[in-house]
Amino acid sequence: MIENEVGPNFIKNIIEEDLASGKHQTIITRFPPEPNGHLHIGHAKSICLNFGLAKDYKGVCHLRFDDTNPEKEEMEYVHAIKEDVKWLGFNWDEHEYYTSDYYEKLYQGATQLIKLGSAYICELNADEMKEYRGTLKNPGKESPYRDRSVEENLDLFKRMRAGEFDEGKYTLRAKIDMGSPNMNMRDPAIYRIKKSHHQRTGDEWPIYPMYDYAHCVSDAIEGITHSLCTLEFEDHRPLYDWFLDVLKTPAHPQQIEFSRLNLEFTVMSKRKLLRLVEDNHVNGWDDPRMPTISGMRRRGYTPRSIRNFASRIGITKKDSSISIATLEHSVREDLEQICPRVFGVVDPLKITITNFADEIFEIDCPFHPKDDSFGSRKVPFTKEIFIEQSDFMEDPPKKFFRLGPGRSARLKYAYVITCDEVIKDDAGKVIELKCTYIKDTFGGKTPEGMKKVKGIINWVSASESLKIETRLYDRLCSVAIPGSGKEDFLEDLNPDSLKVNESLVERSLKNADIGSRFQFERQGYFIKDQDSTSEKPVFNRAITLRDTWAKIK
Ligand code: ATP
Ligand code: MG
Repeated sequence: MIENEVGPNFIKNIIEEDLASGKHQTIITRFPPEPNGHLHIGHAKSICLNFGLAKDYKGVCHLRFDDTNPEKEEMEYVHAIKEDVKWLGFNWDEHEYYTSDYYEKLYQGATQLIKLGSAYICELNADEMKEYRGTLKNPGKESPYRDRSVEENLDLFKRMRAGEFDEGKYTLRAKIDMGSPNMNMRDPAIYRIKKSHHQRTGDEWPIYPMYDYAHCVSDAIEGITHSLCTLEFEDHRPLYDWFLDVLKTPAHPQQIEFSRLNLEFTVMSKRKLLRLVEDNHVNGWDDPRMPTISGMRRRGYTPRSIRNFASRIGITKKDSSISIATLEHSVREDLEQICPRVFGVVDPLKITITNFADEIFEIDCPFHPKDDSFGSRKVPFTKEIFIEQSDFMEDPPKKFFRLGPGRSARLKYAYVITCDEVIKDDAGKVIELKCTYIKDTFGGKTPEGMKKVKGIINWVSASESLKIETRLYDRLCSVAIPGSGKEDFLEDLNPDSLKVNESLVERSLKNADIGSRFQFERQGYFIKDQDSTSEKPVFNRAITLRDTWAKIK
């Protein structure tokens, strides 16, 4: 097993101190997705952090759906998110919660704020509210409705809840400080009127709480000890603490911010991902080119490789873009250990071995050169075989060690062959090679007097192989930071991100299960896709064996 390097994680230090000092006996974290899209690799960072800490410190991690925006949310997303978190290897047991379960408590809390004189019903419309809010340079102006009596506020809030008013007529706002240098503290909205049908509470609520209020109170209700979020919430922390201080909640979770994951050559914003799906630039959320967890799953990445990646990049407050090579390294490292190796020819070129008899010669080949526990299988060798187009060059440079006219190469686990004749079609395309094999070269041997052959190539039997479709994926975008200096990130989509080939693979894969992974020798790691039929198995290439982009730049 390869040791996994672990990146820095400053939150671990905080937790260790809190446990050592007795501030907490057990830690409770939460992963709080909004069910308005599918999870991506950025969410995976947060999942691995929250569930990982709970696991490491024998605590608990809650899965909480932060469902306060009914227009954008759907149960379909809830199911998909649960599947993704499970697939990543994490378990929330009975701790599945929904902010919508707390609507009554949140409403009571807001009523409490009114009673304490810390919240009021405002009648400014959206434009006025903006104008009154001020700017970073200029303080805001107090709303003319700020000094309503507690009784009047309570009455209006009750009627808002009863559905008496139209959307936009009133908002409930916290009464904090319109002169605060922190814009979030300038009397932020707590509740707005919204006559939307909610996926879980139906039409029960005509008002919905705002994120900043709902989130901290939900954390407090659940007794979360450490509420971990990304850096853009740093300026919201005073508000998070203000609500809990004013309400004197029994629990007061500590909000800690860390930098979000940005990954090169892809996009991560839900809005952009949705556009890729809706405008058919990809084939759905789980298209293997997408940075979504479901896309990576379908592409053949393993949960462990994503967990290892997350622990490698670590948790800091530094904003940075992670090189995609770091993710790909984790993927290769895991697949190398778990995948049996087989022969597949992605882009086939026919060879007839003219001096080989018309028979099937079975060769015992190991499934993994470094690990005997994978066992072996018999691979049929025949007079007609296929090799990769790229393993032949009509006019090869000196350093090309594979086949060319008059040149020799070794067929892996079999014989050295020499190319005697090149056959072309009318258009001049090479369609077949006639070769001869050298008998005493079987199994890696070089007979006396013969020059050692450097090139070793993979092959499959023509008659004894399986026709498959291969889907060869490349990076979604062709530049590291898509959209920078452009009108639109779509201009940076990689036009060659998917190539579909008619390919061949050895017959041992005939009954392979959907989702099983293999290394096709020299061609990369592949996974059998759900689109497979018995006539046409489909294999997605998760990744090539080496970083092919490293050479380009
Ligand atoms: P939205 O723009 O809709 O708010 P979001 O990416 O914040 O999208 P959420 O469903 O709110 O989506 O995110 C759930 C959790 O995942 C949050 O705690 C959020 O901080 C975290 N998260 C989201 N994106 C990243 C990222 N790129 N890196 C690390 N954590 C992330
Ligand atoms: Mg969010």
